Amino acid sequence: MIVTIDKSASNGVIDALGAASVRSGATIRVIDWNDGSLSVNVLGQIEPDVLSHPAVAGIHHPSKPYRLASKEHRETTVVRVGDVEIGNGKPVIMAGPCVVSDVEQLVSAAEAVKAAGATILRGGAFKPRTSPYSFQGLGEEGLQILAGARAVTGLPVVTEVMEPDQVDVTAAYADMLQIGARNMANFPLLRKVGKTRTPVLLKRGFSATIEEWLMSAEYILAEGNAQVVLCERGIRTFDNSMRFNLDLNAVPFLKELTHLPVVVDPSHGTGKRSLVASMALAAIAAGADGLIIESEPNPDSAKCDSAQTIEPEQLAAIARKAMAIAELIEADELALV
Ligand code: PEP
Ligand code: MN
Repeated sequence: MIVTIDKSASNGVIDALGAASVRSGATIRVIDWNDGSLSVNVLGQIEPDVLSHPAVAGIHHPSKPYRLASKEHRETTVVRVGDVEIGNGKPVIMAGPCVVSDVEQLVSAAEAVKAAGATILRGGAFKPRTSPYSFQGLGEEGLQILAGARAVTGLPVVTEVMEPDQVDVTAAYADMLQIGARNMANFPLLRKVGKTRTPVLLKRGFSATIEEWLMSAEYILAEGNAQVVLCERGIRTFDNSMRFNLDLNAVPFLKELTHLPVVVDPSHGTGKRSLVASMALAAIAAGADGLIIESEPNPDSAKCDSAQTIEPEQLAAIARKAMAIAELIEADELALV
């Protein structure tokens, strides 16, 4: 059972639910959505009397295994990364290099993607490389360079964390923690980021079903971190003519299943520079709340994922057209009301 609580009137109700759960052997977990509402996830049976408190705004019996992530008890969630809101109707562009290689590279990339319309800077410090002999990222030094680029440009930063032991140090520097595709089902890592209150970008595993992906989001929410954004980044199919197949079905389908914001990564989703713009715009037309795109001034010299990294000029064109598409859709929807 999920009990929705109006936070302004919540005086005593959480304690009452806690006491009632102890009496009946149930457990409760509370999640604060940072918008004036709390959800109490009740695992087990609870005495019905306690649910008549005036602060109880709704009671739902989830039919889906992903309870907190489900749309059954919430319409939308807006995730705040620094001053940037994801999920408020305006597409958010996150951009930057695949990997942070040095200060000059990152600062010039950050300035260029900001000028192109990005409002969040991406860049990997801990990199999940297919080969153990490839550049693995600069680790904490990379995080320091990211924080430096934030100081110069004002852009909040998103960066990947690969192991539970890296979470605290990464959260000390970054504004958003990325869980990469290869770690979508790393449950100890999901639990650890769930214990922070730093926003999380949860990428889809490339062989994960939508339900498995939502269950991974549930691991983070169940620990009390309400700030989860889903990222479709391409899946594996029988067709290997591109690096991955960007599953844009997932975007409108997720909008039916979950209140969490959804962004799309057309860089990894295609693996091919020439396809990034088309798929980015298709993602916005499909209802995505934002894009994450690999871009830096000299894509050919990128140390990682050069073939899918675009020039900032191309990013600027994507950002302009993405805003125009989103505005057109919104204006049309308002005209119908
Ligand atoms: C990345 O964003 O650079 C990355 C490695 O992404 P994914 O986990 O989707 O492959
Ligand atoms: Mn990459």
